[in-house]
Amino acid sequence: MNSRSPSTAVVVGSGPNGLAGAVVLARAGLDVTVVESAAEIGGGTRSFVRDGLLHDHCSSVHPLGAGSPAFAGLERHGLRWAWPDIDCAHPFDDGSAAALFRDIDRTASGFGGDGRRWRRFFGPFADDGDDAPRDRVGGEQNHGVLYDDVFGPMLRVPDHPLALARFAMRAGLPAMLLARTFRDEHTRGMFAGIAAHAATSLTGTGSSAPGVALIAAGHRNGWPVAVGGSRAISDALVAELSAHGGRVETGVTITDFSRIDADVTLLDVAPRAALGILGDRVPPRVRRSWSRSRRGPAAFAVRLVIDGDIPWRADECRRAGTIHLGGSAAQIAAAEADCAAGVLPARPFTILTQQYLADPTRLRNPPDQVRHALAYAHVPHGCSLDGTEIVLGQIERFAPGVRDRIIDVESVGPAALERFNPNNVGGDIGGGANDLRGLLARPRLSPDPYATGVPGVYLCSSSTAPGGGVHGMCGYRAAHAALRARRR
Ligand SMILES: Cc1cc2nc3c(=O)[nH]c(=O)nc-3n(C[C@H](O)[C@H](O)[C@H](O)COP(=O)(O)OP(=O)(O)OC[C@H]3O[C@@H](n4cnc5c(N)ncnc54)[C@H](O)[C@@H]3O)c2cc1C
Repeated sequence: MNSRSPSTAVVVGSGPNGLAGAVVLARAGLDVTVVESAAEIGGGTRSFVRDGLLHDHCSSVHPLGAGSPAFAGLERHGLRWAWPDIDCAHPFDDGSAAALFRDIDRTASGFGGDGRRWRRFFGPFADDGDDAPRDRVGGEQNHGVLYDDVFGPMLRVPDHPLALARFAMRAGLPAMLLARTFRDEHTRGMFAGIAAHAATSLTGTGSSAPGVALIAAGHRNGWPVAVGGSRAISDALVAELSAHGGRVETGVTITDFSRIDADVTLLDVAPRAALGILGDRVPPRVRRSWSRSRRGPAAFAVRLVIDGDIPWRADECRRAGTIHLGGSAAQIAAAEADCAAGVLPARPFTILTQQYLADPTRLRNPPDQVRHALAYAHVPHGCSLDGTEIVLGQIERFAPGVRDRIIDVESVGPAALERFNPNNVGGDIGGGANDLRGLLARPRLSPDPYATGVPGVYLCSSSTAPGGGVHGMCGYRAAHAALRARRR
């Protein structure tokens, strides 16, 4: 790479955060090159076709992506979201299920006596979060408390202080405490299942935060899939990058910063990898904080091809894009506690997605009976045991007879996830632990957590605020931090 122009940028890694950061820099007039070690762009947003079925490798449902400012305007490059009838279903052992809809009133009406409380807890965030004007002074857009404040570094002056205080009052609670404020096991289980996306102990302070954010985003934007596979998100980001003169080079692994010659560098990599790339250039205080940041539990993914739909007992599951398999709130909390303690749970919390319900382009053409699903269970960090049977057991628990319909199973354990993408260290797909310290100091407590201490170089992966998930906000904020520093 020989980029000697005074306004050049190199982005290492083409995950959604790397690409979102690249787009911000390219729109600001920098000459941007993204380098990606894999043969294909997209990191966690890659998709592939096998036997006529369109599969997502990793991320499949995007509650945080659909309303993200980092993805705004991508519809002009063909990005389209599609919603299933039910956004998320949570089945129980008695054959019943709770349902989450984009419409908060429809959701609340399914929760009986808990409905009013659900609306009171999450309703304030289902719109912009407050009544601030849409366009602020200076023309900057108001994206609401979720994207302006919650999805950013903790140490900053909030744009929506009252709404953020309201959010913090709920988010600061241990998830199990918040779950117990509901009377019905259905509501408790639904909340615990959503909070469990963070793969952290549900009794820890602040463990409600990811759940509250996912529910708020869900009632704002639903839990949609990208039409044509999750790769449509990265394709649209690359199209926007190209429209502003940027480019992507695949098959290039950066291991040494001396290979980079640019005014701005964004690293869409894990902190440990960033240390490897930057070496002694990283000041000791940053090095110390990075080495204190811990990884979270791992995922064990199972890709299923099935003859017909999964025979769920609860009708809600037949109509839902995302299904949480864990049972009661107490059972989910116990499974998450096991994972955090390094023990493989017998019934791990498992998230299953049926993208074809919202996006029939995932199925074969001409249409036939064959369906597919992606499930992943939370297992201990670096777990080397084969989790296929326990994941199938969790599906069978709520869909008896599913094993008889399986045409093909592919298992992707923690080690394979890391081989597929080095950012999934030890199978951790969230960019680091989501306990209180991981939420507040991501990867370090600073008004500019993206700065590496090396002039012009910023970390922008999901190991930075606001963390895991496909929303592009880590890259978006890191790129804005770089532009602010250049203006200074
Ligand atoms: C099985 C699974 C299911 C998931 N499901 C969902 C979901 O449904 N919804 C959701 O929102 N999120 C989901 N996620 C999480 C989501 O995929 C990640 O949070 C997201 O992709 C993180 O984006 P990123 O840009 O930080 O990094 P990544 O997407 O991990 O991309 C990093 C990229 O950098 C490249 N790279 C790393 N090091 C180097 C180097 N030295 N040189 C060059 N290139 C390098 C990697 O090859 C990779 O392409 C899932 C993840 C997994 C694994």
